[in-house]
Amino acid sequence: MGQVVTEEMLKDMHDGIKEAEVMNENMRMHGTIDVPKNIPNETTVAAIQEADAIAALRFKREQLIADAVEDGRKLVTIRVIDAIDDIPDADLIKVATVEGWKVVVKAGEFKPGDFCVYFEVDSFLPLDDERYAFLEKNAITWNGIRGARLKTITLRKQRSQGLALPVSLFPEVQDYLGRDDLRDINFTGILGIMKWEKPISAQLAGTAKGSFPSFLQKSDQERCQNMVRSIFGYEKTFRPVPSAAALLPEEIEEAIKADRLCKIDGVLHIVHQPQASRDTQYEVTLKLDGSSMTVYRRGEGDKVEEGVCSRNLELKMEGNENNSFVQMANEGILQALRDADVTDVALQGELMGPGIQGNRESLSFNRFFVYNVFDIKKGEYMKPGDRIEFLDKLNAEAAVRNSFRVEHVPILHSNVTLAELGIHNMDDLLKFAIGPSMHNSVREGLVFKAMDGSQQFKAISNLYLEQEK
Ligand code: AMP
Ligand code: MN
Repeated sequence: MGQVVTEEMLKDMHDGIKEAEVMNENMRMHGTIDVPKNIPNETTVAAIQEADAIAALRFKREQLIADAVEDGRKLVTIRVIDAIDDIPDADLIKVATVEGWKVVVKAGEFKPGDFCVYFEVDSFLPLDDERYAFLEKNAITWNGIRGARLKTITLRKQRSQGLALPVSLFPEVQDYLGRDDLRDINFTGILGIMKWEKPISAQLAGTAKGSFPSFLQKSDQERCQNMVRSIFGYEKTFRPVPSAAALLPEEIEEAIKADRLCKIDGVLHIVHQPQASRDTQYEVTLKLDGSSMTVYRRGEGDKVEEGVCSRNLELKMEGNENNSFVQMANEGILQALRDADVTDVALQGELMGPGIQGNRESLSFNRFFVYNVFDIKKGEYMKPGDRIEFLDKLNAEAAVRNSFRVEHVPILHSNVTLAELGIHNMDDLLKFAIGPSMHNSVREGLVFKAMDGSQQFKAISNLYLEQEK
């Protein structure tokens, strides 16, 4: 490092290089030399290399930010602080409740009802931004960028997930504060935040054929902490209108009539209508910690296409035989679909095995566990009941031929309500998520899917998160 390279210097240097190139070209073509005024010497070459490295890093960073946005996970959002509580034996910090999350904040920084900028775990915050400089002690270098990765931590025995900072620190968000879709806005890109991801192992990084097919859907579930109301919002709830909201009397009157606002003890409150039903029945499956994989077959007759995808890409099948996804597809999944003469479906599941995400299930060979069946013609996932029926038929066919059987992720429960599982609130749900998996005493978590297909969410075990490196 050392010398600061300005845009102007860069331009000069590049001009110099260009001149030298022209000179060489002239020499080659005509055997003549025009003496250039600005041939790059060793110092400028070093400076150019350094500047190129800086530019490459800047480009990489922009790409990572774009990837984080494209991923769709709203890592950074503006939310309301629901509660502030004391932490025993700690004066300088408090615990804030932000929807389903508990996050430690500075004492005095927030009161209930305040907005905050909330960064979820897995956010990667660049440390050259002063506002995150207090995270310096957690600095890591990832993709060449110095930053801090937000993880689940424990402070004074209080679990803390993510980061809540006052909106006043962020001029970038000020113009959005009045919007009624504020909660839905993804600020990840606006604030230049990246999504930390584990490095992917070699046997999975095969050659890509292209991007993830548009006729399929990527699998993902929202974290339960972000879905408090759609899971537990059985009753109407009320929240005081933020003092900043300037409403006209006629707007208020109209909103009260429409049951969007109401007065409680003379104070204006926002009304949240019930969003959940106690009768919702769920399928509860084990969340396996491997790598997402999709195998599809579509079309008819001699126009049947087959393919295999990792989480974000479609992979080449020819010449890519060492890739674990391709191997698994060829080892039997595609054959199972062919034997049963099934097309226009995609099987989506988790590839588990040696070398994949630390092989938490201690498998001695790769196995594929289906959690989704996608109906390509309808453009939608089968509901849990239909998915099981589909796999049962497929495997009945396989049994007849004594060939490859497609496994399903372990099902812990189906057709159950949360109350039947003793789950009445977020705390219960997060406790329920903790437990063993197939061969590990600490599972990654559980996935809940409504039997009627109306919603799904994941509940990650906090024990798993606390043990995460
Ligand atoms: P995450 O691993 O946090 O990105 O969560 C979403 C991913 O969990 C999905 O894309 C799947 O690859 C994976 N997954 C593992 N087990 C299951 C399961 N039982 N149901 C649905 N998805 C699962
Ligand atoms: Mn995963």
